[in-house]
Amino acid sequence: MNFASGLPDPRTIPKNEIKEIIAEAFEIYGYQVLQYSPSSGLSKLVKEVIKFVYRTRGLRANLNNVIIVSGSQQGLELVSRIFIDPGDIVVVEEPTYLLALNVFKLRKARIVSVPVDDEGMDVNVLEDIVKDLKKDGKKPKIVYTMPVAQNPTGVTMSINRRKHLLELAEKYNFIIVEDDAYGLLSFDYEQPPIASLMGLNNVVYISSLSKVLAPGLRVGYVIANENIINKMYVLKQFMDLGTSVLGQAIAQIALEKGVVDKNAEYAKRLYRLKKNLMIELIDGMFFSESWRSNPKGGFYIWVKLNKNIDTRKLFEQSKRNGVIFTPGANLCVNTYRCLDAMRLSYSNPSEDEIRIGIYRLSSLIREMANV
Ligand code: PMP
Repeated sequence: MNFASGLPDPRTIPKNEIKEIIAEAFEIYGYQVLQYSPSSGLSKLVKEVIKFVYRTRGLRANLNNVIIVSGSQQGLELVSRIFIDPGDIVVVEEPTYLLALNVFKLRKARIVSVPVDDEGMDVNVLEDIVKDLKKDGKKPKIVYTMPVAQNPTGVTMSINRRKHLLELAEKYNFIIVEDDAYGLLSFDYEQPPIASLMGLNNVVYISSLSKVLAPGLRVGYVIANENIINKMYVLKQFMDLGTSVLGQAIAQIALEKGVVDKNAEYAKRLYRLKKNLMIELIDGMFFSESWRSNPKGGFYIWVKLNKNIDTRKLFEQSKRNGVIFTPGANLCVNTYRCLDAMRLSYSNPSEDEIRIGIYRLSSLIREMANV
């Protein structure tokens, strides 16, 4: 029972539609689906992405603002290579997305964290940090945030905090890296992306089709001002010459035919049901001192046991019982604050696996806590 990985539910990957689209891609593009393409991406796909982000997220972009990337993960790598030199300050949320944290660490950034609560990143704490840095003549280079369905808490940043964050970016001259990986998987209400509020001056927006079509296609996009996008073209050439053309052609046709929009609606409903199931089980089985986040979308629940239990040790035992999850310490800059925490992913396991897995996990937790 895998509560550790952020893999989509197999039912949300539209296999049959994609099979048909692959045949169409060969009809439409001919041999060119197997040819090199411009490193900025297939122009037909760029146009579809522009329409897509506008209709689904209210984000306006033109052709000069978009680059197709091999998943948002490559977008994060490109941003890091462009902006971060060793010793530069990068602010992340705590807890945060492990593979973003590792990308920033690889660039030898100095990582500073800001806690997340029910309204997302605590921007007042960020403001204090930025003011203190200014006294020493320093500033963050980038602030990395996942404002919708944050990984790993599932919380969504309130509109007031989004505006406050933008004001700070303008005043203190830093770049907001907005990771909208779960932007199309909000359960109750939508929040406009930060990038849509005051133009693209201080924001780099990154998203992909991984959670709403198929992660194996490796198709993502970065939307930012033209200067940044131009630097990304050059860097991307060094990295991979361009995103898989077949993957891009499939994405383009799927967007044009409305397959992605339809699939995202289905995925959203399914994940909402699975989230509700997992929450109900956690609330019924974990002990009363434990705290869990209340996900507004996405794939994950963050649980703090509030007992003296090291979830890395719990993980070792739980693995033997056939249940895995992500120990909280892996996702925190201040690891000691997250020793008793864990990320539980409900996206990939089946409903039965969720029932059995949470039962086994809670029995083990009670055993370890002697209750
Ligand atoms: N950002 C976040 C917050 C994620 O959770 C993930 C995948 N788990 C990614 C980026 C990378 O996804 P992809 O490269 O498939 O778009």
